[in-house]
Amino acid sequence: MRTNWASATAIALLVSLSTSAAHAEEVTAWRLIISDHANPKVTVVDAIDGEKLDTFEIKGPASLHRSESGRTVFAVQGSAGVVAGIASGISFEEHGDIDVEAPKLAGVEITGKKPSHFVEHDGDFAVFFDGEGVVRIISEKSVLEGKPDFRAVKTDAPQHGVAVAYGSHVLLSEPNREKPDELPVGIRVADKAGAPIGGIHACPDLHGEASSGNILAFACATGLLVVSHGDGSPAIRHLPYADSLPNGKTTTLIGGRGLQYFLGNYGADKVVLIDPTIESDAFRLIDLPTRRVHFAIDPVRAKFAYVFTEDGQLHQLDVVKGEIANSLKLTDPYSMDGHWSDPRPRVAVAGDKIVVTDPLQGVLHVVDATSFEKTGDIAVEGKPFNIVSVGGSGQTHEGE
Ligand code: ZN
Repeated sequence: MRTNWASATAIALLVSLSTSAAHAEEVTAWRLIISDHANPKVTVVDAIDGEKLDTFEIKGPASLHRSESGRTVFAVQGSAGVVAGIASGISFEEHGDIDVEAPKLAGVEITGKKPSHFVEHDGDFAVFFDGEGVVRIISEKSVLEGKPDFRAVKTDAPQHGVAVAYGSHVLLSEPNREKPDELPVGIRVADKAGAPIGGIHACPDLHGEASSGNILAFACATGLLVVSHGDGSPAIRHLPYADSLPNGKTTTLIGGRGLQYFLGNYGADKVVLIDPTIESDAFRLIDLPTRRVHFAIDPVRAKFAYVFTEDGQLHQLDVVKGEIANSLKLTDPYSMDGHWSDPRPRVAVAGDKIVVTDPLQGVLHVVDATSFEKTGDIAVEGKPFNIVSVGGSGQTHEGE
């Protein structure tokens, strides 16, 4: 089905002109939001027909985060000290209705020194500004209304930190006081105003956080901190790495959807599957043929995740069996030697498609998620780098 926001509206209008009764039209819309490795811009592409919908000028190269609802995308511009909200233009209402409009800059910017980690919890976004040790929190509702309605909570020192707006609490990383340049040492729970509740939950070398279902996790040098809703305040426990694992740690964590699990890096050429609900055998290590570049979960086909490796291959990881099910060569090699921030591919899943950026060739490779075969590519000017997708299917009710 070939549909973009303009043609979807046109079809619905034609239908409503030809019938006097209200008419529902099934619409599928997916968008890819892509940042550039070198230039301050974000491009929005229709994932279904490959057409460019718009390009937004921003202030610096950006990492991208989409909201749970898909209504907003955030461009975190660390070097420019700003986080810009983008309205994706796609939203879902109750009863499976889809509303499709043009994407636009939401008009809300959150500014501060060195924004880095970005976490959503229950419709609240928390952006940690490393240069200040401050988290700024804003709701999705405020962003979409264009209101810069955020609150700030300060930690004791600048740090490469993280925070989560957790209902009526805030979880804050605790800076390393002896060595301020090093990673945080734990998590502190605070009330909404930032007053600490209880002591520090130790998490040496804290880096990497994700949610899966109702569980939130932080990665530490010693294991994971696993957070769930406790009796009145967050319940936090430490899940140590299994003795059977080799030396190593997770520093990037993503959370499964549909299945409750976490997927993390663990050494340069491995990933680890983590079941946070069991105490024994919680960790399963998976060897990769070469070093890992990026990984993503499949939100639709819950048993799959994807790992891109430096030899240019995309791997389909069966997270139930804990093994690589398929591999597909997509790009020239992207060696992990060199700077960690060199342009290298990133992976996103858009409905039935897996999309991989190829920054040095200026294209997106499109893979069918069912057959795991390449079906095409989409040219994007510049060095397409970070990528997120939003979309889905629903009914429109034009002319009602
Ligand atoms: Zn980081």
